Amino acid sequence: MKKELDWGNIGFGYRPTDYRFVSNYKNGAWDEGGLTKEATVTISESAGVFQYAQTCFEGMKAYTTEKGETVIFRPDLNAQRMADTCRRLVLPEYPVDKFVDAVAQTVKANIDWVPPYGSGATLYIRPFMMGTSPVLGVSPAAEYQFRVFASPVGPYFKGGIRPLRLRVSDFDRAAPNGTGHVKAGLNYAMSLYPIVEAHEQGYDENMYLDSRTRTNVEETGGANFLFVTKDGTVVTPKSTSILPSITRRSLMVVAEKYLGLKCEERVIPFEEVKDMAECGLCGTAAVISPVGKVENGDDVITFDTSAGNMGPTIRKLYETLTGIQMGRIEAPEGWIYKVD
Ligand SMILES: *Cc1c(COP(=O)(O)O)cnc(C)c1O
Repeated sequence: MKKELDWGNIGFGYRPTDYRFVSNYKNGAWDEGGLTKEATVTISESAGVFQYAQTCFEGMKAYTTEKGETVIFRPDLNAQRMADTCRRLVLPEYPVDKFVDAVAQTVKANIDWVPPYGSGATLYIRPFMMGTSPVLGVSPAAEYQFRVFASPVGPYFKGGIRPLRLRVSDFDRAAPNGTGHVKAGLNYAMSLYPIVEAHEQGYDENMYLDSRTRTNVEETGGANFLFVTKDGTVVTPKSTSILPSITRRSLMVVAEKYLGLKCEERVIPFEEVKDMAECGLCGTAAVISPVGKVENGDDVITFDTSAGNMGPTIRKLYETLTGIQMGRIEAPEGWIYKVD
């Protein structure tokens, strides 16, 4: 029996579900792990996660397709990306196949919380890892916990899609050889001040430039950019300090293979942004959010949002990828993972 929730109006916030998956790492090995109802974690006050932010996370979603199946979009890529993040943060890797299995177990155990087809809502899945044993001198912890919880979330744009207003941030998101390319909690801790300030000033997001030269477009605090040039080429910034969004990588495949568009991943100087026709932000939460304006001081760049608050090409990309996810359009091999 599905939970009785007003799926269209649940918003995006933590709503504990019945079960979560927990596995602990001790003496150099992960235990079997399993489901638990316990939503609280009790660990040392000196745990690595508290003292030196030794933690990382992933974000993905489960949802109901048109045929009524419960599926997850490309969980193997989240597993792989978490393993990449773990290496950079000296966290012990959680095996890719076990990660996918843990996510599937969590979804299955909370199947009543997976929103129905057509509601616009999804079951957001949050796998994460943290250093649990005490540290005082700066060093990696000796023990870790891998945990997966799920929380139902409403449609990203309540009341319909709306073009976003961005500002070019004076702050930097990631150092050239830092941690921008991995999903570390610390990347978000330091983005809070700039995003709170942006919101106070009426902006939805920050556009970050590369911190070495401050001339090239990188990404926002939590989404990758995708631009469409005036001649219809889909371009996305290339940089070693951008987090490789699974949504953005999937959209590039959709653009090339499904829509027959020319695609490029290359350095995009901010100077070039004013010549772009369309702009969107890619991430799991909204798939692709249209950008209406990017402001840099008094300079305002505007983009085409004539196709129902989105650019026409971004609209097609959005319709095609969400169609693939919901089972209305045939998916490339391996993109849709069936839970039951
Ligand atoms: C998670 C994240 C994204 C989006 O990645 P998806 O895999 O598409 O959800 C983009 N940028 C940053 C900084 C992120 O942390």
